[in-house]
Amino acid sequence: MTKHIFVTGGVVSSLGKGLTSASIGMLLERRGLRVRMQKLDPYINVDPGTMSPYQHGEVYVLDDGSETDLDLGHYERFTNSPLTRDSNWTTGQIYLSVIEKERRGEFLGKTVQVIPHVTDEIKAAIAKLATPDADVVITEIGGTVGDIESQPFLEAIRQFSLDVGRENCMYIHLTLVPYLKAAGELKTKPTQHSVGQMREIGIQPDILICRTERSLSLDDRQKIALFCNVPVECVIEEKDKDFSIYEVPLSLVDHDLDDLIVDRLQIRTDKLELDDWRGLLHGLRNPQHEISIAVVGKYAEHRDAYKSIYESLDHAGMAHHAQVRIQRIQSESVESEGPERLLAGYDGLLVPGGFGERGIEGKVEAIRFAREREIPFFGICLGLQCAVVEFARNVAGLKDANSSEFDRETPHPVICLLDEQRNITNKGGTMRLGAQPCLLVEGSRSRDSYGREEISERHRHRYEFNNTYRQQFAAHGLSVAGSSPDGKLVEIVEMPDHPWYVAVQYHPEFKSKPTAAHPLFSGFVAAAIARRGQRKTTGDNSPEDAARTPDEIPR
Ligand code: GLN
Repeated sequence: MTKHIFVTGGVVSSLGKGLTSASIGMLLERRGLRVRMQKLDPYINVDPGTMSPYQHGEVYVLDDGSETDLDLGHYERFTNSPLTRDSNWTTGQIYLSVIEKERRGEFLGKTVQVIPHVTDEIKAAIAKLATPDADVVITEIGGTVGDIESQPFLEAIRQFSLDVGRENCMYIHLTLVPYLKAAGELKTKPTQHSVGQMREIGIQPDILICRTERSLSLDDRQKIALFCNVPVECVIEEKDKDFSIYEVPLSLVDHDLDDLIVDRLQIRTDKLELDDWRGLLHGLRNPQHEISIAVVGKYAEHRDAYKSIYESLDHAGMAHHAQVRIQRIQSESVESEGPERLLAGYDGLLVPGGFGERGIEGKVEAIRFAREREIPFFGICLGLQCAVVEFARNVAGLKDANSSEFDRETPHPVICLLDEQRNITNKGGTMRLGAQPCLLVEGSRSRDSYGREEISERHRHRYEFNNTYRQQFAAHGLSVAGSSPDGKLVEIVEMPDHPWYVAVQYHPEFKSKPTAAHPLFSGFVAAAIARRGQRKTTGDNSPEDAARTPDEIPR
């Protein structure tokens, strides 16, 4: 019988429920269990893919092409749970499916209501993951207890334990225990209130995970236990991690969370195996190199807009025993302040994906700078498209070359709309999405990095490299290193004469894990380490040695 764990959150949003859920999944997997992960999001959008990165950070794409919440990225980085479109549901998707059923007459003329119709749909979405090959399904409920939007989800998970038996379900509630400076103490009242709200709707949490800046005393834990009606050993602290998110599972183990879960669910498991993970963190704490990478993007000020890219850089750093300092740079500021001032001194430059015209010229300028100064350059999706535009204008001599996304009248549409996109008007879920095969060219840098000829990577775009210019660009030094098996779509371009210049039409950042860095991120970081070494020997002392803490990504 598959067991179910429901993770809810209280007091405030952004408590790191996704990370905690992923960590729980990882710990259970490392005790030999087969885990499935799922997130239920209370917002009404049917297509998370059309939401601005300012709302919930990056859109995370799965192999099957579904565009999902970024927490699914944590799930994939921490666990091996297979994720599909059944792994992420929004209120909008649940309602859409109820309404479609109603319109097909499936409710036989009954009045369609939140209970039971919407809650049944939610329960069906949860039950769908409980296949015979799944030992545990972990379902994270987005939002905060008390929000109007989350109510149907909470009601559904309450009912769920009646359907499958309370002994097969457990509820883990994440809360905040703030430290009040003026009082000089941790405050447990918000936790009491949020658990109170859970109990009002009929859910008694089994375990409380308390996010806190300071350690909880036994007194604090006893107080929380008493008021929230849980045994004191089930009040667990999760202290803020300012070093690395990959420490979270280890700190949960220190508080015996894995034991508590398997005891409560009565599952027999293997011994916890974490040596490799501890090794990763040891390497991270004792780096042999340090490099600085500039990520030049439109949403650079938003911490989560390129989440998977930042994580992938970290994974590559771990693989090379390097500390990767990441500087987020707003592409528009490259336009106003110039690349010399903002970009000199980095060991590598990465231009991520994006949509819309804002900041494009800054990206093009940044890429020109990396090309001319021989700084390792990695372009991803829109990053490839901007690299092609830059090359066309400044190397191939095609004045005013552009992507037709930004200039419909350009005389040289070096990036143009994919054929399949020409008649599409609906925005949601209609791009070229998900895993696509790609063949790598013998002798290319990418082929060497991957170590094989055929790869599969995830896509999310409407525009493509315009094949009309393929020969012309090759003659000037920009070659195609990977394309779709029919040869029609360019997936990778490289400059063989540059120390490391690779741009890809897909999103490699969705397939990197801390335990298995992505080959291209790994190659990029290795090239950045080499450049740093060179600069040390030539005594090139550049602004990157200056402190630049404010925008740096905390590890
Ligand atoms: N806007 C570009 C396109 O649609 C790039 C997309 C992306 O970077 N994900 O093709």
